[in-house]
Amino acid sequence: MRTLLILGASGDLTGRLLLPGLGKLLAQGRTPGLQLVGAGSDDWTGQQWRDRVAGAFQDCTLQGNDEGARQLRLVQEGTAYHVLDVTAEGALAKLLADLEGPVAVFFALPPAVSQKACEVLQPSEVPEGTRLVLEKPFGTSLESAKNLNRTLLRLVPEENIHRVDHFLGKATVFNILGLRFANRLFEPVFNNLHVAKVEIFYDESLALEGRARYYDHAGALRDMIQSHLLQIMALTALNGPATLRERDLRDHIGSVLRASSVDPDYARSTRRARYTAGEINGRQIPDYTSESGIDPSRGTETLAEIEVSINNERWAGVPFVLRSGKALGRPQKEAIITFKPVNHLPTGFRGEQEPTRLRIGFGPETLRLEIEVNGPGDIFTLDRAVMEAELYSADLLPYGEVLEGVLTGGPLLSVRGDIAEDCWRIVEPVLQAWAENKVPLEEYPAGSYGPPEWDTSRDERPLG
Ligand code: NDP
Repeated sequence: MRTLLILGASGDLTGRLLLPGLGKLLAQGRTPGLQLVGAGSDDWTGQQWRDRVAGAFQDCTLQGNDEGARQLRLVQEGTAYHVLDVTAEGALAKLLADLEGPVAVFFALPPAVSQKACEVLQPSEVPEGTRLVLEKPFGTSLESAKNLNRTLLRLVPEENIHRVDHFLGKATVFNILGLRFANRLFEPVFNNLHVAKVEIFYDESLALEGRARYYDHAGALRDMIQSHLLQIMALTALNGPATLRERDLRDHIGSVLRASSVDPDYARSTRRARYTAGEINGRQIPDYTSESGIDPSRGTETLAEIEVSINNERWAGVPFVLRSGKALGRPQKEAIITFKPVNHLPTGFRGEQEPTRLRIGFGPETLRLEIEVNGPGDIFTLDRAVMEAELYSADLLPYGEVLEGVLTGGPLLSVRGDIAEDCWRIVEPVLQAWAENKVPLEEYPAGSYGPPEWDTSRDERPLG
């Protein structure tokens, strides 16, 4: 028997992502012998918790999978709830001692509470084999990430720490590796001889969705770029690992990030903006600063863009533009690899030569190759052709994959400590420059494509 202990049982992450992700995993019969335990400061009865679990599991499709049905039923009926203040000395230790191991402890808690809970735990109170699972944000700065790493490493070895980045559990994100390394076609041209620039966008039309308290302290750069987009960048840029085992892969991810930095001319290499009132799909969105829980003086950005250089032989000179924002008129979630023009276009072709582009969509999960061909009509005129495939839609929510890694002990889909620190090292000077107002905080109406001069509307057919 192994146990998944979720701290923060009543929270949003638990209800919206963890439990449905776990349900999908169980429904596929992939997690036999699991005990689920919830804990939180709410004075819930066991039945209230079981109802919450049942509610989250109800959409799990079984497709005639008897083993999946059995696992769902066993976990749902056998789950227990404990009222617990995780920051009280000895409280979490006592619960850990009572659980059947190995135990994966998922800290679905506010980050400061997770930190405190780990600080009050003593190494002798953590049974051997216990895994600690932490959510983003992993710290709020390089210094705090280092502190948190020290606190965690006092309790368990690095391989038992899972710093969750659920983007690594998204099939298409991880499949950047399959695309690059299982096809002869792409890998030989993934370098500065052939690539002009790489853009990684995660623009959402969602606004705050009730998460003002968290978001106003984070902003787009911390919330999305420091974590998820830098991981996607690393997967796009890493050298081919010998294996997909966690040490090989994470060494290569780490090597890319160690070579990465943002040019200190921040007014050129970064941009930030905040949305004002507007309309998205007929819905009125209030000005960001008038939302409840927002402190306008904090100057939090809801749209951020940075240009990262990867200073190694393969990528020197190629800009990696990372952008993410909220309340935009059009979701755009993709990596775009734009190739350089050919060295010599035979004289005689007419029309303007557009660059070849490979676009990897992260939701919906698509692949699109835009190329130049001889078009119909005049055979010497270049035309655009698009090859597009909707890739399978993943059966698991990203959290299903993440939880499977956590439960089987494989930290492949989590972020290693040194890598988490490097992500902070890359963005921290930008945060500092922004705090000192070295880069203006621009504005855009909710529902627009961002500030007009950002050129975010240049893309005729976005994915996602
Ligand atoms: P919530 O505020 O919704 O939930 C936090 C949970 O922690 C609540 O159940 C709360 O219980 C519990 N809690 C707080 N203090 C204590 C304590 N001393 N002892 C025991 N339980 C306590 O937060 P979220 O679920 O949104 O976020 C949790 C973590 O996940 C955060 O690190 C967040 O950054 C991260 N995350 C969240 C995402 C999301 O979509 N929600 C996405 C990605 C990451 P009570 O209310 O009873 O105090």
